[in-house]
Amino acid sequence: MKKPVDYPNILLDALEHGIMIVDEAFNVMYWNQWLEINTGHDYSNMVGKSLLTFYPEIDYRTLQRKIRTTLRLNSPTFYDASLTNRFIPISRNKISSSLLSTMQLQVTISPYIIDQGMVMIAVYDISDLHELKLTLQKQMEKIAHLNSELQHDKQIIDDNLLIVKTDGDFHIIEVSKAFNTFFGFEKNELEDCELQLICSDKIPVSEYAQMKNTLQNGQRWSGEIEIISKNGQAIWVDAVVTPWSNNSGSLNSYTAIYHDITDKKRLELLATTDLLTKLSNRYKFDEIFDIMLMREHWKTDDTFAIVMADIDHFKQINDIYGHPRGDEVLVQIAKVLSQTLQTGDVIARWGGEEFIFLLSHVSASKAIHVAEKLRMAVEQLRLFVDVRLSFGVSLFVEGDTHATLLNRADTALYKAKKNGRNRVEIV
Ligand code: GH3
Ligand code: MG
Ligand code: MG
Repeated sequence: MKKPVDYPNILLDALEHGIMIVDEAFNVMYWNQWLEINTGHDYSNMVGKSLLTFYPEIDYRTLQRKIRTTLRLNSPTFYDASLTNRFIPISRNKISSSLLSTMQLQVTISPYIIDQGMVMIAVYDISDLHELKLTLQKQMEKIAHLNSELQHDKQIIDDNLLIVKTDGDFHIIEVSKAFNTFFGFEKNELEDCELQLICSDKIPVSEYAQMKNTLQNGQRWSGEIEIISKNGQAIWVDAVVTPWSNNSGSLNSYTAIYHDITDKKRLELLATTDLLTKLSNRYKFDEIFDIMLMREHWKTDDTFAIVMADIDHFKQINDIYGHPRGDEVLVQIAKVLSQTLQTGDVIARWGGEEFIFLLSHVSASKAIHVAEKLRMAVEQLRLFVDVRLSFGVSLFVEGDTHATLLNRADTALYKAKKNGRNRVEIV
């Protein structure tokens, strides 16, 4: 047997890993302090004895092959003894949360240059690396799982939500499958198309600009818009548009999610429209009237006016020609009144054969002038019977309420009737 290496050996004991010197028969010639501490076996205990005595479970065939190769080639050989019991088992005195209880070892066998026929086996604890690998593997599994869940969710979203994604210039990048199906477009048909092209021109340009402005300021925009389907049908949707920034913080895309509100719009229209004349009804008119009353910037020569109109002797028309023909007259009058009115002014059917108007940005003389124009338009109308209208005008002044303004218009109308009909009066 070879001669043991003297203990202690300052160089070998200073190392932060295990070092043993053994001969081909696995007889231990040196056992450094790291091994003493980590295996619980002292140098004095081990030296001169075979590893087999203490570690019968080691894969000695592999070890022997490695030792022989080292000696024959006179150069180091390595082997990964982790995850197998191919080398001495060393318990880890690590915290309990650790995944591994036994050290994972990297083993290096080098020729021992001082004495021939012996090798120096260095044992490195690579458990931390292993643990990291295991943790990484678990994380990867988690990510893969999350990814498949996300894919699943994305599929559900794609199949069910009406979504359009545009670039920073509002050119369409992507639309959901549900959007294409709902609006009748082919896959990829809308790519590169400008968003405005699929929006109805009923949306005022100012509102479209306001939407762009809000989004370009990085804020979310929501509102109702009309989208034109492939077959030209206009469909009302509720839209929520969210701006997205890229990493450098500049806005580079917008995502719009739509909900079909056709039914809501239909009900809304039914609730606010007069079925016979298709004009706004009294409810709708009152809503607009209240909004006008809330504005605070009205002046005497730039205010708004309420005009009430009532058909003269309409009862006679009904009596002579019958109710259905009376209805026809109402429809024709509604039409001519609407056409005569300037955009921005409002007309509604107030009651049976009464109409009401809201004229904004007018003075008293301007309001009378508009009412005169309306009166004359009806006067010039060529129907199966001559029809005339009386008008009562009232102008909003400081302190007026819904009721006071309507009362004055009503009084003015009564005055017009009393003063001979087919005329305009103001109170
Ligand atoms: P005046 O000049 O004083 O207003 O006389 P008038 O006959 O118009 O007045 P009145 O209020 O007595 O009559 C209004 C008539 O309008 C009575 C009603 O039969 C008729 N009327 C109200 N609503 C409708 C409608 O929807 N269709 C038809 N055809 N007639 C209606
Ligand atoms: Mg009447
Ligand atoms: Mg009447």
